[in-house]
Amino acid sequence: MKGKIRCRRKGQKSQGGVFPASKDAPSAEQFGRMLRFGQCEVENIVSVESDTEESGSDTGSSDSTGSSDSTGSSGSDSTNPSLAQKDDTLQTNVVTFRTGDSAVLASHYDGTPNLWVGYITEICAESLDIDKVWVKVFWTWSGRDLQALIQSFDASEFAPYERAVSNYATIESASTLLDVKHMYEWDEQSLDPPELDFDTLFTRSTLSYARKVVNPKAAFEMCLPGKCRSPRGYNPFSAHQHDDTIMHFCPRITCRRWYHQICLLHWNKIDSSAVTHLADRGVRLLAVDPDDGQSCPLLAYYTDGSESNMMQVDDDEHPDVCSESDHQSNSGPGIPISAPEPSTPYPLDFVLAEMSRSDVIADLPPALICISQCPIVRRPGPAQDGWTPAGNVKEVVLARRLVYAAFEPDESINDNWSALNPQECCDRIGVSFRYATPYPPYWQRREKELETETWMYQPPVICPNCNAAI
Ligand SMILES: [Zn+2]
Ligand SMILES: [Zn+2]
Repeated sequence: MKGKIRCRRKGQKSQGGVFPASKDAPSAEQFGRMLRFGQCEVENIVSVESDTEESGSDTGSSDSTGSSDSTGSSGSDSTNPSLAQKDDTLQTNVVTFRTGDSAVLASHYDGTPNLWVGYITEICAESLDIDKVWVKVFWTWSGRDLQALIQSFDASEFAPYERAVSNYATIESASTLLDVKHMYEWDEQSLDPPELDFDTLFTRSTLSYARKVVNPKAAFEMCLPGKCRSPRGYNPFSAHQHDDTIMHFCPRITCRRWYHQICLLHWNKIDSSAVTHLADRGVRLLAVDPDDGQSCPLLAYYTDGSESNMMQVDDDEHPDVCSESDHQSNSGPGIPISAPEPSTPYPLDFVLAEMSRSDVIADLPPALICISQCPIVRRPGPAQDGWTPAGNVKEVVLARRLVYAAFEPDESINDNWSALNPQECCDRIGVSFRYATPYPPYWQRREKELETETWMYQPPVICPNCNAAI
């Protein structure tokens, strides 16, 4: 394999069905005999409305490649067109495409949600001739594309920028490549799903082209199959108002599933007065360990319910796990903790005080402790009031892991906690750095934001699989 080759961009691909192969494309056999390259550069010559003088550094950015749309989140530098040369009123923008990239290909749908996107798996050229470069593209399919292919497919199941990855490939002229745009993979079981904006390209299903089967059935890998009351899956950017449904996630390694709130309520999967718990709902939420099938050992005694009547529990009195009093009571050592009324389930600080472990979370930010005791929820639509379409799973899981790390008797963590930089902290406890960190300013900001967010106030539902608070 050689390094890179360059070609010139030509006009748009015509529309003649879904992803039609180029008429003059080489056969698979011819393609197989060509020279192979790891990357190709595509030149786009754009006219610039320039006067006689140099018009500054912005001159080349108003090109028609659409590359300014690129998220750039893949870490690839290939989306930054460089100005290769300047010739009076014409400029050449260059975009680099590598094998493995997800690329936008020119079509009549440029600039719309139905834009054409495929994965480049091979780059070949008949010769070093600048106009004879070909790429093998595995196409991704939008809901609209799938509806054209599969009669029974309902395009509204897909978000506008959602795609199914397919095993359908064609050989395309590299001159139709427009831009590199990252395609996020979204797994319904993930503790670290991508943060989605309306125009974020993402995929969570595959299309078997020959069998005309999309698997998993878009957005239906959730809730209880056969019992779910929602006729639709979960579309993060649905046009249907009635899809505006809240879902809860059980992060236990033995569950890892989202459930519709309306289904949980219908199945009566809600805290029962017949089951009592020593600890309050916030502690019980915190005890649901995303890395284990069992409750957090330190809290298990207080959170595993029993069908006795040793305490009269009424969780409805404590729907707000982020109340002012929680903030205050978690604000550090030295604050006297008074025993709750006998009929009141214990909050976290009382549970820890009873075990003489009050000090373990003293250095943690109040917002972190608050979020660790919240439900994991999501709601379709643009981010608002703390709600996001992919949910708060990443942040709550991070907060719980940080609290568990503080529970650990490993003094090397606690003693050096404040001395570690955010990356070191995350490395130490094995959490992802890129979303949130134990870095104090992050949690200070979150504490302010929580005052206006609404996602934490949810009915006290439980997981239909493990009965944990979710
Ligand atoms: Zn359901
Ligand atoms: Zn569960």
